[in-house]
Amino acid sequence: MKTISHRISGLSASGGGHTPVFNPATGAQTAQVASGGAAEVDAAVAAAARAFPGWAATTPARRAKVMFEMRRLLEARKDELARTISDEHGKTHTDALGEVARGQEVVEFACGIPHLLKGAFSAGVSTGMDCYDQRQPLGVVAGITPFNFPVMVPLWMIPMALACGNAFILKPSERDPSAPNLLHDLWREAGLPEGVLSVVHGGKAAVDAILDHKGIAAVSFVGSTPIAEYVYARGCAAGKRVQALGGAKNHLVVMPDADLDLAADALMGAGYGSAGERCMAVSVAVPVGEKTADALVARLKPRVAALKIGPAGDAAAEMGPLVTAAHRDRVAGAIESGVAEGAELVVDGRGLKLQGYEKGYWLGGTLLDHVTPRMTVYREEIFGPVLSVVRAADYGQALQLINDHAFGNGTALFTRDGDAARDFAQNVQAGMVGINVPIPVPVGYHSFGGWKSSVFGSHGVYGPEGVHFYTKLKTVTARWPAGLRAGAQFHFTER
Ligand code: NAD
Repeated sequence: MKTISHRISGLSASGGGHTPVFNPATGAQTAQVASGGAAEVDAAVAAAARAFPGWAATTPARRAKVMFEMRRLLEARKDELARTISDEHGKTHTDALGEVARGQEVVEFACGIPHLLKGAFSAGVSTGMDCYDQRQPLGVVAGITPFNFPVMVPLWMIPMALACGNAFILKPSERDPSAPNLLHDLWREAGLPEGVLSVVHGGKAAVDAILDHKGIAAVSFVGSTPIAEYVYARGCAAGKRVQALGGAKNHLVVMPDADLDLAADALMGAGYGSAGERCMAVSVAVPVGEKTADALVARLKPRVAALKIGPAGDAAAEMGPLVTAAHRDRVAGAIESGVAEGAELVVDGRGLKLQGYEKGYWLGGTLLDHVTPRMTVYREEIFGPVLSVVRAADYGQALQLINDHAFGNGTALFTRDGDAARDFAQNVQAGMVGINVPIPVPVGYHSFGGWKSSVFGSHGVYGPEGVHFYTKLKTVTARWPAGLRAGAQFHFTER
């Protein structure tokens, strides 16, 4: 049995036991991953603290060289990375390749770090006096990441933190730990010095050790809302800078004037791609008006029923299995509860079996119509291939529905009406908005982040917000008097 170990410089032996790792398509255990705790986090912090001064003193241009080389390696090894993701996550090969590409975008942005760290300079703020800003690294920082993007989400954090001059400790999901290890090895191959990046595997014990550790200055978290809230509270109580991104319930509004074929295509990809296990997946379709709703459901029904589901190696597969048997059963339970609360089950994906993959964690695409805001299936995140249709009488009701929901990650409006589109972009309560774009994940040179219960903390991840999160601002006011002698002053003077 393969053992997936920590990547901690100087760690000779680790305790804490192991957690099994499965292939979701076959249901077979393929490996076991080390489960670290306080001792492993201590070792990673010690290695990072040793490496930090040298890395922080490395010029931004030299740090950028590592980013350029990492970009090249990601391109050259993307197939291997994608296969490693799919083996433990279950997503299709093309979807995994897309994940690598989106992570690579952040590395590309970090290549420009000399420019991004450039501070403002004001000459002559007083006689013989200048003022300038510097952004300095925080020190040792950590990232805790979810199972659904084992490469992309770590790459939302690592390139930005490293380019800014920090040392980084990654605690990835215990469900798919092989890809984060491969990522670590690629960073080393790209020229990152020993100790600057570590990977500590494990669950709650490792997370708690990170949150409480005095040697860690900041924590980035991406995962479910209850854990995000917990990480934010405990990390802040320990005096750290914390950003914690949580769960979602993303609505896509379809206006009566929208191109319905385009909207149906968008809903298929955004609702069922990656088996709905994306924080930006669309899980609620909101057609405006009964005519729009009937026409949309008529288009979706045959397509959901005909979704091609298979293992990552099947080039025709549009989505794969869910990540674990327990999660598959939880999603099936959410469908059951929707039906019990009065939703109409238009397509039922439960009970799907695939020949040759009988023990895989399969669930077919599911479509629920006439879902209402009071239903649990609407209020809670399901994180599976289940699309709920909530019918709205008019645009105002659709907007209110989104604004009343506890989550506020992403949302989208499909329309041909510029007025409605502008009103939606201005007034919807969500962090990322798509206009005729179903999954509006910002490109690497913007920043990612939701609102409401989808985020705790005040910075988005990657892009300019990433630079701000991983640096502290220092402002220097300097005087070069050149013969000026003002004498002691005991009051502020006019400049
Ligand atoms: P999760 O919250 O179960 O796990 C996330 C991380 O927290 C993992 O590293 C895990 O080991 C750790 N963890 C789990 N339980 C813990 C506990 N009790 N105490 C301390 N640490 C714990 O999330 P997941 O199931 O891996 O990922 C899916 C969730 O992530 C979904 O809710 C999804 O919406 C969310 N997500 C959000 C974004 C975003 O950008 N907002 C992006 C991707 C995923």
